[in-house]
Amino acid sequence: MDTSTRKGWVDIAFAGTDTTLNALRQGKETLWLNPSRRPFDEIKQELALGFDDIEEAAARLQRFAPYFVAAFPETATLEGILESPLIRADSAARRVAQWLDTAPPEHLLIKCDSHLPISGSIKARGGIYEVLLHAEKLAVTHGLLTPGDDYTCFASEAFRTLFSQHSIVVGSTGNLGLSIGIISARLGFNVTVHMSADARTWKKALLREKGVQVVEHQSDYSVAVAQGREEALRTPRCHFVDDEDSTSLFLGYAVAALRLKKQLHSQSIRVDNEHPLIVHLPCGVGGGPGGIAFGLKHVFGDSVHCLFAEPTHSPCMLLGMHTQLHNAISVQDIGLDNLTCADGLAVGRASAFVGKVMEPLLDGIYTVSDEHLYALVALIKESEGLDLEPSAVAGLPGFARLSHASTQERASLGLKEVLSNATHLVWATGGAMVPDEEHAAYYRQGKALL
Ligand SMILES: *Cc1c(COP(=O)(O)O)cnc(C)c1O
Repeated sequence: MDTSTRKGWVDIAFAGTDTTLNALRQGKETLWLNPSRRPFDEIKQELALGFDDIEEAAARLQRFAPYFVAAFPETATLEGILESPLIRADSAARRVAQWLDTAPPEHLLIKCDSHLPISGSIKARGGIYEVLLHAEKLAVTHGLLTPGDDYTCFASEAFRTLFSQHSIVVGSTGNLGLSIGIISARLGFNVTVHMSADARTWKKALLREKGVQVVEHQSDYSVAVAQGREEALRTPRCHFVDDEDSTSLFLGYAVAALRLKKQLHSQSIRVDNEHPLIVHLPCGVGGGPGGIAFGLKHVFGDSVHCLFAEPTHSPCMLLGMHTQLHNAISVQDIGLDNLTCADGLAVGRASAFVGKVMEPLLDGIYTVSDEHLYALVALIKESEGLDLEPSAVAGLPGFARLSHASTQERASLGLKEVLSNATHLVWATGGAMVPDEEHAAYYRQGKALL
């Protein structure tokens, strides 16, 4: 890491010449528009990963579908494909619009990753995918699997015996640990999850119940990941799921775009230049929202606009992209504490590669205060009956942010003429696994703020 440039930025931040950095430092809600966004056709060839890679990941998940039906019977309704509902949210559109003093968008959709099977969060996409990829490689290497085999064999004793000689390690704020822990333990791996201090107690308890080793840290996410990485390096036959730097996680998330295209089509939602799709994605380290945005750009090109949402206390991606220092700067470097009720987004330093990949693709990033996150949890519960965790509602105020943006800002996104035709899609990233009493506490806190 080049600390001299990093120090330079911090000095600038404190000198107060940069309005974006100033707003971040002061914990103010901010909308940052990406000045480096370019037409997708122009940059497609430059990307290190392409559409073929996304299709390969989708095909791998399809091969594992019979395994899921066998090992997780709750996945049988979708024939072993882990996918979430896409719902219209007219009532939420009205409530949120009224609360934020704007007009409701004509189309507001919610992608309910909160209700993904197995682990109830967006992490059921990338996290589970990476473990399957690793398991498949091991099975081939050890001569247990040949092309064309029925993948229900992954539930057999021979496979479990093989995986019991291998281990998987991950560092997490909670939800990635749940996804990796549950699938790894079921396949028969030894699995250890390093949890940051923000990880909820019930997430740790649930994992221990499933036979996962949980190591608790008093520090934040970056330290939990670093400790996990170190343990993995010391351990033979061990795979470390590196949430800060993993292309397989990223591709697992990207598959969502292929599935979403079908869902939009079956609900007769048009997506073209006149009818843009604006997708609001809560962002922690960046892999989840980055992978999905990457997939969406491949599917919809410039008709899709992706915006990330971060807590005001943990805007690591905004900070990294704006300064172009990416993972060489942390929110602590500008005086923020990285403490937020959005435990899934409590990340102080962005992924090592996602910000760079997003540079020409992303429309922008906005920040949301903890008070607003709590209030939005209550609003979505009252309007749509959805139980979401605070991280999962970060994208809900996004349509209002755009409608409050200046004409010039909208024009810079190519949305000046067509914003009123847009479909806003809020990616609701987690919630179904949260215990009822925790939901009730979130709701009470939010209700008091409405
Ligand atoms: C992890 C997580 C995110 C963000 O994903 P990243 O890959 O960390 O950016 C969003 N919402 C929830 C609920 C999460 O658990």
